[in-house]
Amino acid sequence: EAWTEEERTVLRAVAQKIALDVVTGQRLKATDHERSTVRRFCAALGELNGALGLDQVSEASLGAVGAIVKADLGVVSAFDGQCHRVLHASGQSSQSVDGLEFASEEGLVGQAVKVQHTLPSRGEYRGKRPVFGDEHALPNMRSLYIVPLTSPSGVAVGALTVASNREHAFASSEREMLELVAGQGAVKLELARAHEQIRELATTDGLTGLNNHRTFQQSFNSMLARAERRQGSMVMILMDIDHFKRLNDTYGHPFGDEVLRGVAAVLNRVVRKVDLAARYGGEEFAVLLEDSDAAAGMMIAERIRREVESLSFVHADKGSVGVTLSLGVTTFPVDGTDKTQLIARADQALYSAKEHGRNQVCEWAALATKSQQEQAVVTVAAEIGV
Ligand code: GH3
Ligand code: MG
Ligand code: MG
Repeated sequence: EAWTEEERTVLRAVAQKIALDVVTGQRLKATDHERSTVRRFCAALGELNGALGLDQVSEASLGAVGAIVKADLGVVSAFDGQCHRVLHASGQSSQSVDGLEFASEEGLVGQAVKVQHTLPSRGEYRGKRPVFGDEHALPNMRSLYIVPLTSPSGVAVGALTVASNREHAFASSEREMLELVAGQGAVKLELARAHEQIRELATTDGLTGLNNHRTFQQSFNSMLARAERRQGSMVMILMDIDHFKRLNDTYGHPFGDEVLRGVAAVLNRVVRKVDLAARYGGEEFAVLLEDSDAAAGMMIAERIRREVESLSFVHADKGSVGVTLSLGVTTFPVDGTDKTQLIARADQALYSAKEHGRNQVCEWAALATKSQQEQAVVTVAAEIGV
């Protein structure tokens, strides 16, 4: 039997209702997805806002990228006006990009930063053109988005690069959000740079680039605390350039400065990453050796002495000039258990090295033994009435 008109009306109404439900369902789902994207995006931006150092800022920028798009590679690079340097990379083949450095206008990144424009146009990429430097292409990628990072004052500070191995991977709304991340990232990157410069100014000595006196004192406290906790040992070497006043008087102050830088370079070369080299005062330097005993301390001190002795500084009029150092060595805990005592005894040892003819290393322990011996001789002499 044919459907009645009434039945048809009911079926049509039901079909319409289902269609409406499906559309509403789809819209709700899309809204939900958008909402969670926005939520993740906001959280990531918040994290970026709170980031301080260069590493933190670049990591947080890539975190924000991850909240927006499914990228196979994300890279933050910094530009200092001459050179690009990859600060952080995440995703597929990020290892091949990590730490890359390349010159000003090299690669698509260099070009994007130079013209201050997002590249490549339309975000399409065939895997051939070099991206990082003149040689580093991304053969697996089909979508690429390089946003220059420009500070509010208009300075190019780096680039945010996002790539995917899918074609047309980034929708226009997603690109807008990526631009937002880049804007925020640029501000934070510039701040992080200023932050690092300030920290460097506060902790290093301007002439030699070594740690300054204050950093030395702070590092001594923490190294000592570590040694106490582990029941280990550590060494302090205090050194002073011999007859430096005479050198200044003979060759001039700028030449003296050059010598200070030369000695600092030796210290930088000789100490390990875990150790600390500092300019203690005018022509005095200090080295702290983590987790080292007296024998190691004497060996390093002797190496420093020899290397400085073999340096040759060339004066424009007066030719080649050499310098020497006197060094004092103390070891925690055998020579002293607190910082003040260790410094004072290193100073005594240094003084003794000067007394005994300069250009030598003196260990406080040996000094103590000797003075105890001398004391014993005096006592015996008194006893036997000599
Ligand atoms: P000694 O062998 O006993 O250590 O003799 P000295 O001449 O090295 O000792 P003194 O302490 O009399 O001289 C230290 C000199 O270091 C005096 C000071 O002008 C110089 N000096 C300190 N800081 C600097 C600096 O930053 N640059 C230069 N060129 N000289 C400096
Ligand atoms: Mg001195
Ligand atoms: Mg001196």
